[in-house]
Amino acid sequence: MKIYNTLTHGLSEVAPLKPGTVGIYTCGPTVYRDAHLGNFRSYLMTDWIRRALEFQGLDVYHVKNITDVGHMRQEMLDRGEDKVIAAALAEGKTPEEIARHYTERFLSDERKLNIEPAHVYPRATDHVADMIVVIERLIEKGVAYEAKGNVYFDVDGFPSYGLLSGNVDEQGLLEGVRVDADRLKRRQRDFALWKAAEPGRELRWDSPWGEGFPGWHIECSAMSIKYLGERFDIHTGGADNVFPHHEDEIAQSDSFTGGPVVNTWVHGQHLLADGVKMAKSARNSFTVSDLEVKHVDPLAFRYLCMTARYRTRLNFTFTSLKAAQRALQRLRNRVWEWGSSPNGPEAAEESRTQWEARFIERLNDNLDMPGALALTWEMAGSGLPGRIKLEMLCRFDRVLGLGLGSSPDTGAAPSEISAGVKKRDLLREKARQHLAELPELGSSVARRAQAARGAYREADALRDAFRTQGYVIQDTPAGARARPKSRWERRQESHPEVSSSADVLSLLSQPDAVDVTIGVVANGYLEDVERCIGSALRWADGRRAEVVAVDNGAVDGTGAWLDDMAAEDDRFRVIHADHRLGEAAARNIVLKQGRGCTVLMLDTSVEIRGDLYGPIDELLDDEGVGVVGPFGLRTGDLRHFHEDEAQAAKGDVDAIQSYCFAFRRKAAAGVGLMRETFRFYRNLDLDYSFHFKDKGYRIVADPGLPVRRHTHRAWAELGEAERDELSRNNFRRFLRRWGGREDLLVASRDPHEGSDHLHGLPHTTAPD
Ligand code: AMP
Ligand code: ZN
Repeated sequence: MKIYNTLTHGLSEVAPLKPGTVGIYTCGPTVYRDAHLGNFRSYLMTDWIRRALEFQGLDVYHVKNITDVGHMRQEMLDRGEDKVIAAALAEGKTPEEIARHYTERFLSDERKLNIEPAHVYPRATDHVADMIVVIERLIEKGVAYEAKGNVYFDVDGFPSYGLLSGNVDEQGLLEGVRVDADRLKRRQRDFALWKAAEPGRELRWDSPWGEGFPGWHIECSAMSIKYLGERFDIHTGGADNVFPHHEDEIAQSDSFTGGPVVNTWVHGQHLLADGVKMAKSARNSFTVSDLEVKHVDPLAFRYLCMTARYRTRLNFTFTSLKAAQRALQRLRNRVWEWGSSPNGPEAAEESRTQWEARFIERLNDNLDMPGALALTWEMAGSGLPGRIKLEMLCRFDRVLGLGLGSSPDTGAAPSEISAGVKKRDLLREKARQHLAELPELGSSVARRAQAARGAYREADALRDAFRTQGYVIQDTPAGARARPKSRWERRQESHPEVSSSADVLSLLSQPDAVDVTIGVVANGYLEDVERCIGSALRWADGRRAEVVAVDNGAVDGTGAWLDDMAAEDDRFRVIHADHRLGEAAARNIVLKQGRGCTVLMLDTSVEIRGDLYGPIDELLDDEGVGVVGPFGLRTGDLRHFHEDEAQAAKGDVDAIQSYCFAFRRKAAAGVGLMRETFRFYRNLDLDYSFHFKDKGYRIVADPGLPVRRHTHRAWAELGEAERDELSRNNFRRFLRRWGGREDLLVASRDPHEGSDHLHGLPHTTAPD
């Protein structure tokens, strides 16, 4: 097998140093938080390398460390960077308990993704003594020095430093390292092997240099050498590990042993989300549990990762994930089909060997998983007899690891996958059992087989009947078979989910069906959602009202609550989004689906405290009025928007704030949808208000409307920097479109025409 070696910038042949056994070390998880899908993309890469080698008869000895030292980075806690860990510590949990908790979750996620467990998962905290031995030797050899209880690696003492990352000059080496003001280092590029414990640090170890804790990279040197020896075959990690982590590891390990420790360095490219590296700090990370909450099979993510080569970036989207889920389902369908295909003529041994050789060729070509997958599909569509295809598929799946033939719904254990023939019998048996358990279904399968020949309509009716009973009919060479629907298929039917507003039909041109649409985008915060919708309905008595709610990818049970409401109250309509859509996109779904004469868009932070609908209708009865609401804004220059004047009394304003935003559906049909480049809510309301103005409508605020604002939690949760950035970006969008359109402003209208009555009025306080 040839694989790209980051160190040599070329392909390296994997030739096991110990005959027959390949040693692999993988930089494992940091266990003070959940690993995200980006981390798992890296672990999947190594899993495929391992399976590909095992498939070809090699043994693999796999070591994956558990970093349970990182969570002790006191500075980080002090800065409050990790809320999860800070909260757990506040609850009285010990660092060990936290590490154990997240280790368990990691191992369970690995199982769900069918990642073969490593042979050893050494924990950093169990190996501090080994690290100290390495550090002592490095000092002896003169490549490390002590300074006030700290020990540093002297980069000048290791001439090949920089070869892995290509950062060879001092300047380059500094890039990417945060310049810490560590004055004890001789040179900035030296790095810590041991650090003295600061006061208050809980986890600390005794050492020849006093109490302290190990540096970031030493654990991997100590543990890889301990478990795999002074020379081993493959070391893997994600691209961000190259520098400084692995560069430093090479310096430590090679100085310690006197020779190159690792033969081949393999790095997987990043998984992106929304175009940037998936990372917890970027708030674009998803976990395996996030997939499960959405009823996506974690193995669909495994399939998705197979569609790109490991050295290219892969952008994660729910649309591509769903496509992967469908493809996986199609492969599973094949398994069902072939499982019941008749015993055909034996395929020539030669033909099987050929398929397998081509498969291995893909794997050995620098782990070409997309190629291996394409070949699998090619084989599935080939003219081989079904049962041979099943056998081949099960063999290939020893590498792919998709659990084919052991779909969660058929309940077979992954260990059964490898035994292709056994698997087939098992599936047959299962199919028989299902049909036997449901005799009436069994006989209708036979009836359906007959019907398929002639009466198509009857066949379709039967198919539907099966579908409602939770079965799918597949036509196989042996006749029609019924198989139980997978969990995912059931979920899709009961909870269709949309991926964008384009998935939603627009009813805007259809006639009104009710008086008012109460439109809500629920981004979680269930209590707020309940309060908002509950209060809006309480005051809607005597009106024909409907609630159109977008469950915007919330994972806190909001979607389920909305479904419950919809089940009890037919005024409710819920549209589930498969992930968090941008604010404008989500509001457009409300706009497209609402059938009320008036559309009232509410932010879930508000509460309705009186009859709102009467006054709104009165205001909107004036056909010249486009948008109304309690919280208006005015501006003189399109740059500064003020609440105070607009809050003084009922009157014309330049925009209505999104907390409570009402208009006629008929008018919106002429104005159009909101601009979906506004993913964040802020200033979207300005933009949409201006679209109304541009069509000649007036905007009127009535601060007396009985609407109360509570903490806007989506805003409160954001950090200062994020607020600024998101708001600024949206404001730029607004200004690009409306800059120079002062003609639209209330301030530039004829003073006699009505705006001046606002001036000089005493300011009232904003509604609380
Ligand atoms: P960490 O827990 O941050 O040490 O990361 C564990 C492993 O996941 C390391 O090998 C990282 O290089 C890798 N990794 C982190 N983020 C991503 C990402 N977005 N895509 C792929 N691999 C990643
Ligand atoms: Zn490591």
